[in-house]
Amino acid sequence: AAFRQEKAQTQRIKDALLIAEQANESKSSFLSSVSHDMRTPLNAILGYARLAGETQDVRQKDDYVAKIGLAGHTLLDLINDTLDLQKIETGVSTLKLAPAPCADVVKGILTAVKPMIAAKHINFVFDNSKAIMANINVDMLRVQEIMINLLSNAVKYTPEGGRVEFVVECVGQDHGIIHDKLVVRDNGIGISKEFLPKIFDPFTQERTAATAHIGGSGLGLTIVKRLVDMMHGHIEVRSELGKGSEFIVYLDLERLPDQLTDKDQSEERHTFDLKGLRILMCEDNAMNTEIAKALLQKQGVEVICAANGQEGLEKFNASAPGEFDAILMDIRMPVLDGYQATAAIRSSRHVRALNIPIIAISADAYEEDVKRSLQAGMNMHLGKPFNPDQLYETLAKFCHRLDN
Ligand code: ADP
Repeated sequence: AAFRQEKAQTQRIKDALLIAEQANESKSSFLSSVSHDMRTPLNAILGYARLAGETQDVRQKDDYVAKIGLAGHTLLDLINDTLDLQKIETGVSTLKLAPAPCADVVKGILTAVKPMIAAKHINFVFDNSKAIMANINVDMLRVQEIMINLLSNAVKYTPEGGRVEFVVECVGQDHGIIHDKLVVRDNGIGISKEFLPKIFDPFTQERTAATAHIGGSGLGLTIVKRLVDMMHGHIEVRSELGKGSEFIVYLDLERLPDQLTDKDQSEERHTFDLKGLRILMCEDNAMNTEIAKALLQKQGVEVICAANGQEGLEKFNASAPGEFDAILMDIRMPVLDGYQATAAIRSSRHVRALNIPIIAISADAYEEDVKRSLQAGMNMHLGKPFNPDQLYETLAKFCHRLDN
């Protein structure tokens, strides 16, 4: 018996070792996929930058610059997806449930996918005739992320003029729980039998002649699956090569009373006028300074630069009341970082110490970073790379320059 016990023990150790080895292997293959997939768009960026620098032809230059922009976005998507997945897998990301009307969840999804549907002349059908458009307790952004991912895949892998359907259906209701079925169906290129079982694995993409020109991180569906699991939901896929695909997500959602209070409708686009604003920009990176400055000057904003937090603090303290309308603050800077500089500004004796808008612009774009910025006394945190329109709107909002 002792012998048998020992043998079982050895087997357990062997199994554990195998699992550890497999985990390690999948981690390094994950890393090598990430770095491969990052080098590809980076290669395009550097290559086109060089070509753009060498050509005298303005139209060709424009074309190269547009391609640099596209590859940059691909790289950004990949970085965001990788971090997102990593945060989900390590359990750092949790669901943030909040009351929301089902109609708002759906509206956000439709708004996000409309432009790509239009660009590809897709015949789009939305059907919520069997849905209960009630108020629900939901992580709206995450549900939207799931459905936007599935719908953009459907559009991506369906040729021009094809058909994509989005069906929201309530398949049952009990004890205040709505059982929802969300279907995304397309009549596009479809998925092969061999590939189908691997479809939710990270970095798997079916590479065929039909998909060779389509970009993507190969992480979208992995994230979708993890999110659905987090919501204790269920996802199914059916597909046939050349015929099309169908992804079905089942979610159980808590129904809430019909009357919801304080609805936030602040997502709409605004028009604004930034002309004549004077902004103090604290940023140590010369390229980032140049870019932000040029983007702001185009809107008629005057930009005064400080190369670190200390310099920013001194310029603010020496300024006349009203000389600066707002401060843009990088976080990681030498001498005084953005948090320290903000705290010093807020506790200074300057008349505007407490009410000058301070907006963080930082590559630290995690939720904790955003929280920390707000705690340090900043009014808002924008992640880098920032979207210029978002920067304009944010400045307009805090400097009271919104027209509507
Ligand atoms: P990607 O960023 O490559 O789209 P995903 O994880 O979203 O990554 O999808 C993985 C792969 O699954 C895709 O590369 C594609 O081969 C296949 N796929 C996903 N959705 C569809 C669809 N609706 N039709 C055909 N193939 C699809």
